[in-house]
Amino acid sequence: MVTTPRTLLNTPEGDRRIECDDRLLVRIDGDPTHALGLDATDKPLSISLPGTQGFLPSVNQQRAPLGTRWNNDSAFRFHRAMARPHHDDDTTGGHPGGSPHTDTSGHPGTSSTGGHPGGRDYSTAPLIVTWETTQACGLSCDHCRAEATPDRHPDELTTEEATALFEEIASFDPQPILVLSGGDPLERPDLFELLETAVDIGVTPSVTPATTSALTHEVIDRFAEIGVGRMAVSLDGASARAHDGFRGEEGTFETAIDAAKYAREVGLSIQVNTTVTAETVDELPKIADRAARLDAAMWEVFFLVPIGRGEELAQLSPERTHEVMEWLYRRSQSAPYRVITVEAPFYRRVAKRIADEEGIGSGRVGSTGAGNGFVFVSHTGEVYPSGFLPESAGNVREQSLPELYQDAPIMEALRDRTSFEGPCGNCPMTETCGGSRSRAYAVTGSPFASDPLCPWAQTGETGASRTR
Ligand code: SF4
Repeated sequence: MVTTPRTLLNTPEGDRRIECDDRLLVRIDGDPTHALGLDATDKPLSISLPGTQGFLPSVNQQRAPLGTRWNNDSAFRFHRAMARPHHDDDTTGGHPGGSPHTDTSGHPGTSSTGGHPGGRDYSTAPLIVTWETTQACGLSCDHCRAEATPDRHPDELTTEEATALFEEIASFDPQPILVLSGGDPLERPDLFELLETAVDIGVTPSVTPATTSALTHEVIDRFAEIGVGRMAVSLDGASARAHDGFRGEEGTFETAIDAAKYAREVGLSIQVNTTVTAETVDELPKIADRAARLDAAMWEVFFLVPIGRGEELAQLSPERTHEVMEWLYRRSQSAPYRVITVEAPFYRRVAKRIADEEGIGSGRVGSTGAGNGFVFVSHTGEVYPSGFLPESAGNVREQSLPELYQDAPIMEALRDRTSFEGPCGNCPMTETCGGSRSRAYAVTGSPFASDPLCPWAQTGETGASRTR
């Protein structure tokens, strides 16, 4: 049984409402107990107990999966951060092997100043902060952005520096999602302490562990006990042969599947991360099915940016990318999980076209861009618009993260879409898409150039010129 610094309450059957402090540890007793749902408003926290139906009405809702079965030792920690509005573009923003998975797929209506109709102004607060806890990793995957190494860097942020970073993240208004990525976060001996600290500060962390033998059931139990928001596992193939072959490591598929299944058993939300290359693209339909069977909350589909070890891998052509996106959008309409793309914001254009012309779905997909809703903090505290865009805005050891995110020239320039060049600068979709700034940088050396993977940019047929 985990302990809580504030209030510990058991929930005898029959109790329907518990007045609480802004932090609450709930232990659900009974044998067996079905927690039908959990519904959190800011304060007090309301809990639907066994025997109740559905959920109490609430704008801010956090729910346990319907039918989740808790045993006597099951414990859940809820805190005020979990009562934040659930963002439809929520992502753990990273996956084992070091790709921090900037969600650049775009929230509908993202403006040049970073706002969107949902009221979130990306010029003042990001939606996602990914902190690369370490570059150390026991794996050496071919597509690794971080070019992870076996050993930790001696100048990594310390536990104390990370705590200060979490407090700065908590000071954003509204508060972002925090992702602890790597390398392999499990290489940090203080990982659990870091996660607990983040929870105590009020920032719900997600985590992207590498699928090594260190990712045990005991580790996943701790994630669940601490209150980790989500755990990501990478699947780049739907079979051991395909996945392990791509990763260059035997056993990683089995570890990923086992970890994902066990996480769901203990009530921990999971997402599946997949890297799309010429080698993995044919696996996508089977991975989509597998993610459903694993009860994933999200499938994050990352379109390779040729940096790090990923430079050696074969990318898709713009035409094939377009086909894949059309398939992905249609597949997403029947998926029991949310689908987001990473480093492929023209997915928004694909989705909008299909929605407008074929009436399929709303066409609303994706979220953020580099420095525009997303920010990446490296293992040594350097702040980048994206983990794939190595133009530093400064270091959190010298300036606060809010200052760097809001005011650093590179961040401001990336939110100002009038600075974009070529087809992306003259495209009617610039405001909602804008192209992958990371890929533009990787291929051309300029983060303001056009995205070379965009089919419209390649043909020059972007449509009517944008009006500024
Ligand atoms: S040209 Fe650029 S802004 Fe236009 S759809 Fe392509 S990537 Fe997006």
